[in-house]
Formats: sequence, C-alpha cells, structure tokens
Amino acid sequence: MTNFSELNISESTLRSVKRMGFEEATPIQEGTITFAMEGRDVLGQAQTGTGKTAAFGIPLIEKIDPKNPNIQALVIAPTRELAIQVSEELYKIGYDKRVKLLSVYGGQEIGRQIRALKNRPQIIVGTPGRIIDHINRRTLKLEGVQTLVLDEADEMLNMGFIDDINAILENVPAERQTLLFSATMPPAIRKIAETFMRDPEIVKIKAKELTMENIEQFFVKAQEREKFDVLTRLLDVQKPELAIIFGRTKRRVDELSQALTLRGYLAEGIHGDLSQAKRISVLRQFKENKIDILIATDVAARGLDISGVSHVYNFDIPQDPESYVHRIGRTGRAGKSGIAVTFVTPREMGYLRIVEETTKKRMTPLRPPSTEEALAGQQEVSMQTLVELVQNNDLGSYRDMAAQLLENNEAIDLVAAALKSMTKEPDATPVTITEERPLPMRRERSQGGGGGRGRGGDRGRSGGGDRGRGGRDRRDRGGDRGRSGGGDRRRNERNDRDRRPRRRDEK
Ligand code: ADP
Ligand code: MG
Repeated sequence: MTNFSELNISESTLRSVKRMGFEEATPIQEGTITFAMEGRDVLGQAQTGTGKTAAFGIPLIEKIDPKNPNIQALVIAPTRELAIQVSEELYKIGYDKRVKLLSVYGGQEIGRQIRALKNRPQIIVGTPGRIIDHINRRTLKLEGVQTLVLDEADEMLNMGFIDDINAILENVPAERQTLLFSATMPPAIRKIAETFMRDPEIVKIKAKELTMENIEQFFVKAQEREKFDVLTRLLDVQKPELAIIFGRTKRRVDELSQALTLRGYLAEGIHGDLSQAKRISVLRQFKENKIDILIATDVAARGLDISGVSHVYNFDIPQDPESYVHRIGRTGRAGKSGIAVTFVTPREMGYLRIVEETTKKRMTPLRPPSTEEALAGQQEVSMQTLVELVQNNDLGSYRDMAAQLLENNEAIDLVAAALKSMTKEPDATPVTITEERPLPMRRERSQGGGGGRGRGGDRGRSGGGDRGRGGRDRRDRGGDRGRSGGGDRRRNERNDRDRRPRRRDEK
C-alpha cells in the first residue's frame, strides 16, 4: 500500500483525506490516482468496498479550479443511493478546497434542484434519468465539463441506462478526461470504453475472494412457482445464522420480504429505491442480528460491507457469472465457511453450466427438502432452544409452574407440548410472488423482465397491504437474539416516494 503523500496530491486534499481517516491508498486508488493525475483516461475494475469513490474523487477534486464557476466535473451513478453516497464522499474530499457540489436524482423535487443549480456548483453527481431531464430543460450546462465519471457502469447498463448515457455523453465536451468504474467488465462496458474513452489506462484489481475455497456451492432445481416453498424449506432445514437472498428486481425483493415476514421469518428487504435512512436502519438490524435474512438486489448489495453471512441464496440466478462471484463472495469471509444455494429453473440449466465454467467449480445439486424435513429442522431448533434454556438455569417461577403441571400430567407429554408450541411448523399461508420470466443472460440483452428502469415512481408494487405479521416470532434461538419487534423499527424516513404498504409494528 502507498501513502497518499506519495501520490502527488495537494496539501488541502491530503488534509481532507487524513481527516477522513484514510492512511494508505487502496490498490485501486493508487493505480487510478497516478494515471488520472497525469490526465489519462482510466478504466478501473475492482470489487465493492475497495475505495473506488476516492480513487476518482481525489483526482477529480484536484482538477477543479475553485475560481471557475462552471460545472467542471460530472459524475453519473446508477441509483439515488449511490449518488448520495458519492456526493457525501466528494464533499469530504473537497472540503478544504471549498469546492461546490450538487447531487441531482429522481425523486427529489426538480424545482429545488433548479434553484440549487443557480448557485453555480462545480461538480454534479447525478443519476442518468435526472441528468437528462435537466439537460432537456436546459438547466444543466455541461459545456465546461473537464472530467466525466461513470461509476458502477455495469449496473447502469444492467438497469437499461445505456441510451441515457449515450445522450449525456453527447452533451459533454469531447475534449475531457473520462474515468469509468465497474465491478465487472462485460463486453458492453469494453465497448463504451472504446467508444468514449481515449486510450484508457486499465487498472484492474484482482479480487481476493475469487478463490471461494471455503464456500460450498449448491444449486437447486425448481420451477419458478415452486421457488418460494423450496426457499422456506431450505431456510428451515439449513437454519442460517445470517443469510442474504438475492432477487432480480426491486419488486421481487419487496415481495419476498413481505412473504417471508408473513411466514414468520425475521427478514427485511433492501433495494435502491429505499431512502438512505431506511437502508441504514435495515443494515444495522442485520448486523445486530435483529433480522436473520436480508433480501437484496445486486445493486443494493453493492457497497455493503457485511461480515458473518453464513448463507447466500440466489433466488434468481444472477445475470452474468461475475455477479455470481460477487454475490456468493458475501459469505465465506475471514476464513469462515459459507454456503451458497442458487435456484435454477429447468430452462436456466444451460446457463448454470456457463457460470460453472467461469468459476471453474461444479455446484452440487441439492434436492429440495420435503415438508417433513423442514419440520424436522425446526423441531431441532426447538430442542436446542429448550436445552439452552435449561442450561441457562434461569427459570425462576416457571419451575413452580412446572411442578404444578407435573401433578396431573406426564413429564414426557409436557415436554412434547412445550416443543410443539415452540416449533415453527412449515406453513402454507398463501403468498404471491409474481412469476418472472427468466432473463436471458446479459450478452443476449433484452429489455423487460420485471420493472425495467424503475425511475418513474410507478414501479410495480406487489400485492396489497396484507402485511400482517403472522404473529409467530419463534425464531429467536437461544434467547439472546434480540426480539425483532423492537421499538427502533419505526419508519423514520420521510420519503413520500416510498410509502410501501408495510406491516405495522406488532405489539
Ligand atoms: P467502492 O466504491 O469501491 O465500493 P467506496 O469508495 O464506497 O468503495 O469505499 C468503501 C469504504 O472504504 C468507504 O467507507 C470509504 O470511506 C472507505 N475507504 C476508501 N478508501 C479508503 C482508504 N484509503 N483507507 C481507509 N478507508 C477507505
Ligand atoms: Mg462505489
């Protein structure tokens, strides 16, 4: 690792970086900053969490002339969340230099953005749709742009933003520096690089987790409509300590979290349309073990730094092999073992083989557990819990009650009844998971397949407001897992775009 002071950056930026607590540059930062400071275009590829924001942020801020009131840099990011995250980081890097920065994204009142644009920001961070919107209204003047950044470029392509990006590029001077970052490098990204970049320097940081040695990889074959039942049985049998379930679309994530909650699992969804506050609160609950299951889209999982994930379930097979690697890399970290289960519909089997070719590892077929096995899994949980309660030796007045009951009942019947009352039996509460046509792999790109670009605000919402919680909350093994329904679950976001029908907090 290299010290930032060796990277030829100004005193003011060094001060900011120090204040941010960064001591040494990460590998992607070292590579990018070196070339970008020479004025070169850079194509950066590195995993989530490797510090890509500062990698482009530092050279970008360095180049801003604080006396020039024009927009000098434009950063395009796929989602509102990421746009906010990036602008917060840029703000910190540019703090000592006092650069003016504005983020523009869908969902925020456009009038307010237009007024803010009149204050002459020098850097704009925005989502493609909203940037186009401002270009069309002539409220965003990009003639002075000297640096253009495409962040999370693969996600932007996945979300169908290619036309918007092309349109934005037409409005930015050809004479500029372009920095492009992506976690994966599918052919479409290379094509963008060839078309829009000048002899880019490629900085590729090899992912450490790519070995995946301690991740056991399984696949389970299921028809689309069977997937949810198979999932719940797997959860019952495998009893993950902490699991992430990946769904293909935001709608999918909403429906899955709703359905799992209805069946009594401690689950929450996370996707790009949730407010920052909500996202943070869900993540905190997950990290503190207040929820066992996080359901996420690929985009939402980007940039998340979570450890201790024991199981990854690909409820929908990822769209390209590299995403597969990123998804399952969420488990099996820090020397711990992990389990990854990928759901495959019969027609996706061929695609599964392509994923295997990439990872050079065969996945083990997993038979969907039967209802009986699911029940047995949950019964085991009850037995463990009961034994732990005995061992904790903290039964106080319950012992007197037990003595009373034993006067008229057999001990074996009483214990059996206690176990039965604790066991979360496999449940057939009807749920709706909208069937999705499997997407073709990315190289066959086709539009559609659920939700599309979802910036209109009318993205598919799932079935009505029947989110009543099943009233069963028996998954808190061992007693110390913090009850889910705690007071901090209140919605505190004030974002009217995202009033999802959510369950009331029970109790
Ligand atoms: P990426 O875009 O590659 O997913 P981020 O830019 O979001 O990664 O950075 C991930 C986290 O690491 C952020 O919290 C960021 O502040 C922090 N970070 C970035 N660079 C450094 C560094 N050189 N030293 C310490 N922390 C860093
Ligand atoms: Mg990033």
